[in-house]
Parts: sequence; structure tokens; C-alpha cells
Amino acid sequence: MEITTKLSSHPASDERLAEILADPGFGNYFTDHMLLVEWTPEKGWHDARIEAYGPLSLDPATAVLHYAQEIFEGMKAYRHADGSIWAFRPEANAQRMARSSKRLALPTLEIEDFVQSVFELVKVDQRWVPEASEGNEKSLYLRPFMFASEPFLGVRAAHHVTYMVIASPAGSYFKGGVKPVRIWLSEDYTRAGRGGMGAAKTGGNYASSLVAQEEAYSHGCDQVVFLDAAEGKYVEELGGMNLYFVYADGRIVTPEVGTILEGITRSSIIELAGKLGYQVEERKFAIDEWRAGVASGEITEVFACGTAAVVTPVGELVWEGGSLPSIPAGGVGETLRKQLVDVQFGRAEDTFGWMRRII
Ligand SMILES: *Cc1c(COP(=O)(O)O)cnc(C)c1O
Repeated sequence: MEITTKLSSHPASDERLAEILADPGFGNYFTDHMLLVEWTPEKGWHDARIEAYGPLSLDPATAVLHYAQEIFEGMKAYRHADGSIWAFRPEANAQRMARSSKRLALPTLEIEDFVQSVFELVKVDQRWVPEASEGNEKSLYLRPFMFASEPFLGVRAAHHVTYMVIASPAGSYFKGGVKPVRIWLSEDYTRAGRGGMGAAKTGGNYASSLVAQEEAYSHGCDQVVFLDAAEGKYVEELGGMNLYFVYADGRIVTPEVGTILEGITRSSIIELAGKLGYQVEERKFAIDEWRAGVASGEITEVFACGTAAVVTPVGELVWEGGSLPSIPAGGVGETLRKQLVDVQFGRAEDTFGWMRRII
């Protein structure tokens, strides 16, 4: 893909950048540039360019604003101690975006074009990739996304689509140490049904989760866990993270894919845990197994995983009129988390060949 670059006339000053990178939080600040590519049925992908970050001008009839034909990805660029910059399994994000685009009737971007687009933006904005150290896992969060940019109110797949990449420096997810989260069990709302969009990374899944998320906050919980839409019996995932259950006998269970999003952290943990000697089962996991396992002490640990927070221990499960006793953060989640971030930040050998050098 040929990408033209027009550098920003107003990049952040070194002082401003230092201030931002000292405490970036998550999703608050954006780099100096953004990448855009257009698609039409006649021309295919064309006009790939990097330009100054800034607002888009959209016709009010732009299809995505009405029918939500859009998908996205989430990944990070990591700076190693020697100053080099790396990505973690970027082809896996590219493949997942291609799967999401098929489900949302959007055009697919070639794997190499996706990887190139992300790498080029990181190269142009490399001074925005924070320095990291153990216990301070700052990175540059990358957000590739694609949306129906055709101004048309008829209901059909858009004939003009825009693909973009933006980047945002991200701080350590856990300031002051990893703290187990309280999870709200949503019994009124579900995330995705058979034949739905559950396996696609699309804004619609997030839009439908927000009311349940509000319910969680009002019950003093941080996140929501959704059950399957058909029977309301099986644990699916959190709004944006996959779940793992650790048993005292060394088994680890994670809900099977189908209506859930296949996390790259989830797949990496399956491989890592297997190498560490755990027996990982991908299967349907009933909410009753969760309740019984915690009550009997057979489940010793529950954790959630995703790119943003890597691994988050789940402490308490709360629902309307009841709760499960809190279980402490356990050693398995912490071990897996450490193994993964050590590979990502170049502190451990990359035995699976997951890392790709950007610079
Ligand atoms: C992105 C996402 C995840 C986590 O995927 P990772 O590739 O590990 O970041 C899990 N669930 C949902 C719904 C997601 O959108």
C-alpha cells in the first residue's frame, strides 16, 4: 500500500508531550497524526495518507451515524529498554479485523496493509511511545477502525468506507497495584445471540452493553458479566474482556468462542498456560459451576483478560439479591500476566515468536 505523509504543522511541544506521557491515563490524549484510507467498489482501497490529527467533517447522512456499520481493533506498541519499538501479534489483530469486516459487510483490508498502516503511524509518531519499566507498563495504544462513510440513508452495505488508525498513549492500568474487581451479573440484558455480532469487534456490541454497565456502577461494581442469550445459563464474557476460571487441581476453564469475542490475550494465555503445565479447557461454562466452584473451594481464582489491562483478578460476583464471597487474586493470573508483559516489553524470551519489531 502506498501511503503519503503530510506532517503536522502543529505537533505537541516537547514540554507538553513530557507532561502527557508522565500520566497519560487511558484514551485521553492522541498523537500528532492519524492515518486514513478510502474504499469504493470501483477503486478498492485508495488514497492512503497520514496527516495531522484532527476532527473529521462528516455529512449528517453518513451511514455509520445511523446504522452503525463499523468495526475496530485494539492493540499496543511497546518500547523496550534499548529504545526499540515492538508490536504484539499484529497479524492476529489484522485477521480478526478481516473476520469482523465480513460480519459487518465491510470490505476487507489485506493483512499486510493493516500491519503496514499501524507500523507507519507508529513510525511517524514514535516520540509518543512512552518509556516503560517493570511496574510501569506504559505503551502507545493503537486504534484501527473502519466505518461506512457514504452519505446515504438507504439500508445496504455502504459504497464508501473509510479505514483509519489513531494512537493514544496509555499508562499503567493499575495504579498502586493490581486490585480485584467486583463484577455485576447481568440477568436482564445479553450481549449477543446465535447468528449475531458477538464474535465481531464492533461498536454495536459496546452500545448494547452500556445500560448494563450503568446498572453495575449503581450496584458498586466495576464491570458486567453477560450470560448466553438463548438459555441465560452459560457465562460469556465481560463487556470488553474474556474470562478464566482456575481450579485447585490445575485445570483452567475459559468459555468457548462463538458468541464471544476471541481475544488475542485470551488465545495467548491458552498457549502460555499450556506451556506452564495447566490443562486448559475451552467449553461452555455454566453460571452454576461458578457458584458451586467458589462455594466448594474448587475454584481458587477467577480473572479477566484483554489488551488494555492484560489480566485483572475478579474478586466478587454480585447479582440482584445475592453475591458470591470474594476470592483473592491468585498466583496463576499474576504469573500469566507477568509472563505476557515481560515478553511484550522485551524482558523475557519470546518463545512463541509473537513480537514484531516496528523500529
Ligand atoms: C477487544 C475485546 C476483548 C479482548 O480482546 P484482546 O484481543 O485480548 O484485547 C474481549 N472482549 C471483547 C468484547 C472485546 O471487544
